[in-house]
Amino acid sequence: MARYTGAVCKLCRREGKKLFLKGDRCYTGKCSIERRSYAPGQHGQSRKKTSEYGIQLRAKQLARRYYGLAEGQFHKYFLMAERKQGVTGENLLRICESRLDNVVYLLGWGSSRAESRQLVTHGHFKVNGHKVDIPSYLLKAGDVVSIKEKSRESEKIQSALENNSARPVPQWLDLNREIAEAKILSLPEREQIAAPVEEHLIVEFYSK
Ligand code: SF4
Repeated sequence: MARYTGAVCKLCRREGKKLFLKGDRCYTGKCSIERRSYAPGQHGQSRKKTSEYGIQLRAKQLARRYYGLAEGQFHKYFLMAERKQGVTGENLLRICESRLDNVVYLLGWGSSRAESRQLVTHGHFKVNGHKVDIPSYLLKAGDVVSIKEKSRESEKIQSALENNSARPVPQWLDLNREIAEAKILSLPEREQIAAPVEEHLIVEFYSK
């Protein structure tokens, strides 16, 4: 399935939750869901009874949109999560969290996950000293992510660093702002993942 390129605020309103897809605007009163907290479209404000399948589908779509993933990639992660030991839903979120574009966003080096993905593809980051330009690259405990020295002067990176310096960084990432480098201390536990997702519904969805 092709990546969604329409108005992203509509996705938040459809899911009824803030998915933080638009960078700085998401943290201001201009956020669309704060002004119009109902689904988009002509029937957005009408009450609808949702089936069990519909609830599970919405949970899966919400997670996919939160991380900006295509269906094929997300399903692939689900299959990977199933093969791992532990709780499948938590494994799934952990895989999504460990993507390089997501970690770049969490470190405040990009204003949104979409912008972070673009910065990764433009080759601004290194993993363990080597340039990596693959947004889906999965990081593991002990990996060190850094901004390339030359890229630190780039206008986009500079403005992301300035705008996002107050955003809290999750505890599983050890960020050294001085040298723009971060170590993955461990992959996150569920309580360290901020995604507003009911992962058990996603497992039910794919297990049908
Ligand atoms: Fe979602 Fe951000 Fe738009 Fe608010 S501003 S509706 S959080 S994308």
